[in-house]
Amino acid sequence: MVNSVTKIDQIETMILDVPTIRGHVLSMATMRTQTAVLVKIRFADGSEGIGEGTTIGGLSYGAESPESIQSAIATYISPALLGRDGNDVNGAIQLIGRLVKGNRIAKAAVEIALWDGLGKRLGVPVSQLFGGAVHEKLPVAWTLASGNSDTDIAEAEEMIETRRHNIFKLKIGKRSVREDVAHVARIKKAVGDAASVRVDVNTAWSLQDARWGLKGLQDAGCELVEQPVQARYRKAMAELARGYEIAVMADEALNGPEDALAVVAGRAADVFAVKVAQSGGLKRASEVIAIGEAAGLGLYGGTMLETGLGTAAALQLFATVERLHWGTEFFGPLLLTDEILAEPIVYRDFCVETPKGNGIGATLDPDKIAFFRRDGGRTVKAVVGE
Ligand SMILES: [Mg+2]
Repeated sequence: MVNSVTKIDQIETMILDVPTIRGHVLSMATMRTQTAVLVKIRFADGSEGIGEGTTIGGLSYGAESPESIQSAIATYISPALLGRDGNDVNGAIQLIGRLVKGNRIAKAAVEIALWDGLGKRLGVPVSQLFGGAVHEKLPVAWTLASGNSDTDIAEAEEMIETRRHNIFKLKIGKRSVREDVAHVARIKKAVGDAASVRVDVNTAWSLQDARWGLKGLQDAGCELVEQPVQARYRKAMAELARGYEIAVMADEALNGPEDALAVVAGRAADVFAVKVAQSGGLKRASEVIAIGEAAGLGLYGGTMLETGLGTAAALQLFATVERLHWGTEFFGPLLLTDEILAEPIVYRDFCVETPKGNGIGATLDPDKIAFFRRDGGRTVKAVVGE
């Protein structure tokens, strides 16, 4: 029996293109604009839920693009959910799971909107639906990815001085291993003990490259290397995790709880970068976290560079996790030239704060949404990065 009060009446999707504050140079793409897919669900009682599904660099990072996320939701997920009881979030997750293979980011966007609607109707934050927050704020890393060592050092020093970040993740893998190691060593030397320096290779290295890379990075004082080799090379990841003291983190290799179990079984990582979008939603991400915890691995809150909306949703879940050994990288909104939330997420004292309020704790700024939506008839000009 569908509860007529909380029936799902309407699901709207839209694509937003927001310029980034500088070119974000990754091993596989340079981002000058971030594209987010927003989902708005309207329920019969007039309540609403909002969600976000975002990826990085079009189709260069993963199998879903902003356009495929929107189309999966509009064509396949929404028709199955319309008319269902909006309070039955688990039933919706299970139904979508049966009807739609893969498409984890699309599923996550819809699921976040369902949790948001439920939290708002119950008058509680989404963290409460996951047992309650145990942290009000979490450490937050910044990614240095201008592509230039001097620019990165200046950026890092400013972040430390203004007490915004003292954890830096460097995006490497585009240049030779030797050049990358020299770049990391220069930055680590410049910041010294004032900051933790880590790297993300985004799968760019061969196992041979990675052996040299990990040895050099470790000697340079770098603490962690994220996804040095391709996601499917679990044995190579296991060799690297076993062979060096530097922590090896799985990111692209983790697409939901099944992957998490396989990575644990293959001892293919020391740390999980847990991403809500990549896991397929908050619930699946909580399962990845549980598997990591049970295996005694380190945990890190990862991002797909979501806007404040997706960042708020992630904060609701990660605020409930007992121990995030490596902190988070929930800095997505700070990489964008403009804020799309009415109340921006708060960053201070090297931490990001869990937003207050019901649901995921985020309210959209309607003027900004109208300005940045792709179908608004306006073309976003790319900003020139350093
Ligand atoms: Mg990564």
